[in-house]
Amino acid sequence: MGSEVRVTVPAKINLSLSVGPRRPDGYHDIATVFHAVGIYDDVTLTPAPDGSGVTVRMVGDATEQLPTDDGNIAVRAVRLAAARAGRPDDVQLEIAKAIPIAGGMAGGSADAAAVLAGCAALWPNSLDATALHDLASQLGSDVPFLLEGGTMIGTGRGEVLTPVLAQGGFHWVIAVSDAGLSTPAVYAELDRLREGREVRPPAVADDLLRALRGGDARALGRCLHNDLQEAALSLRPSLSRVLEAGSDLGSLGGIVSGSGPTCVFLSRDREHALDIAVGLTTTGLVRVVRHAISPVEGARVIAG
Ligand code: ATP
Repeated sequence: MGSEVRVTVPAKINLSLSVGPRRPDGYHDIATVFHAVGIYDDVTLTPAPDGSGVTVRMVGDATEQLPTDDGNIAVRAVRLAAARAGRPDDVQLEIAKAIPIAGGMAGGSADAAAVLAGCAALWPNSLDATALHDLASQLGSDVPFLLEGGTMIGTGRGEVLTPVLAQGGFHWVIAVSDAGLSTPAVYAELDRLREGREVRPPAVADDLLRALRGGDARALGRCLHNDLQEAALSLRPSLSRVLEAGSDLGSLGGIVSGSGPTCVFLSRDREHALDIAVGLTTTGLVRVVRHAISPVEGARVIAG
């Protein structure tokens, strides 16, 4: 048995999320700009005695509601990686969760990406970059991006990645709501709302890419867009008050993150972000308000 490996992995937001029509297989093609933001889960992988299999212990807010069997995507990630590497899956996982659960910030996918990066470090020369990307795509549409981080266009179901030329850094205010929203339920609501409407193929707007090339926070704030927002607001109408509050507090732009209910607000700088965070906290509309910088790297081994 070797020693433990520690991996840190960020959350993602979608600077834009364009959702195409529902496909016959039930999935939707999307065109999105993924952006990794500085809220992190920490995943530790420790080799366990022969035959003990995968176990997981999670610490952090509300983690007791998460499955510890194969329902946990991090457990599935160990099994897949072990099978691909030709190793037994005797690994003990400990996950310190800071990414909001069911918040539209891909926390589960982040843990899976961290596990893949951790397994590659635990079992040297058995999982190359292609294998990791392949396993990540099998685990979920957001997992490949979380191996990379930064800013990337995602197409297909989100797993086909193209780097984006982007400059500068940004400051975000992340407003976390009380109860999560289920991603499949939000997509189903979008399909319901779109019945009888013409739905265009998904695309990324040029003005967003221009704002990122120029590192222009004001322009970026005006370009933020999320096709799932209407559906998230329909299922959780109180989110419109959160978005309004962020706008009243002078944010450069605000959207529901992914399938929600987390809302994210772009600010001019750190001080502006902290002002908005304090303002949002005093509204009492959201449970937790955080400040995060971006872009940040994807899953990284920090010790092992
Ligand atoms: P996404 O943005 O990728 O749609 P999300 O951020 O809204 O996802 P997650 O926190 O990734 O939501 O989790 C959604 C559900 O997945 C949870 O409610 C939980 O039942 C299940 N799940 C399984 N494993 C994990 C994990 N390691 N962390 C969080 N949730 C997990």
